[in-house]
Amino acid sequence: MSERLTLDELLAAHAAGRLPPPLALIVASHLALSPEGRKRYHSFEAAGGVLLERLEPARLAPGAWQRLCARLDDEAPELVLPPRPVPAALRRLPSPLREVLPDSLDELRWRGFGGVAEAVLDLGTPGYRTTLLRVRGGKAVPRHTHEGNELTLVLEGSFHDELGRYARGDLAITDPTVKHQPVADDGQDCLCLAVTDARLRLTGPLGWMLNPFMPS
Ligand code: ZN
Repeated sequence: MSERLTLDELLAAHAAGRLPPPLALIVASHLALSPEGRKRYHSFEAAGGVLLERLEPARLAPGAWQRLCARLDDEAPELVLPPRPVPAALRRLPSPLREVLPDSLDELRWRGFGGVAEAVLDLGTPGYRTTLLRVRGGKAVPRHTHEGNELTLVLEGSFHDELGRYARGDLAITDPTVKHQPVADDGQDCLCLAVTDARLRLTGPLGWMLNPFMPS
């Protein structure tokens, strides 16, 4: 069993560049959508900067500054590629996520039923499962618990579960101590980015039936 991650731990690890790609993706996407998250994140960046300053040697070697400046002057200007035009369908999605998506969400392989569908994003990181989850307004994800951590970022719409209510930009963090049934709020489909680091364990009476839908 893994210990429960906190948002602050994730932000601090992200500021230090220590998160594996799926977690970096979901944290960066959260930051792109959440001003509150960015404010919190900047405090970690600032803390990291202070730490680096403390670690910096007090004096540079004689001539080091001049040598550094000369080297920077010599460096070729960076090749700047024109930004990829953003397809209209993806415009409301956070840019870090757009980078790993095709031009249309319909190009993904969606699986599911009963108003709940998911598409796996292959980020090439073993041990993590990254998906987009689309839940029709008013519909519920099968009740489940987790063998590891589960991060869920709301991209569109909103959902609620036993722990609270989550709207666009909110990042929900659950772990093996949580058994829950997320339900999309009425009126709008809920689109989420989810990252798990272990299998989900279905706990409802229909769990056995839904297994093909879950990670293998
Ligand atoms: Zn869950």
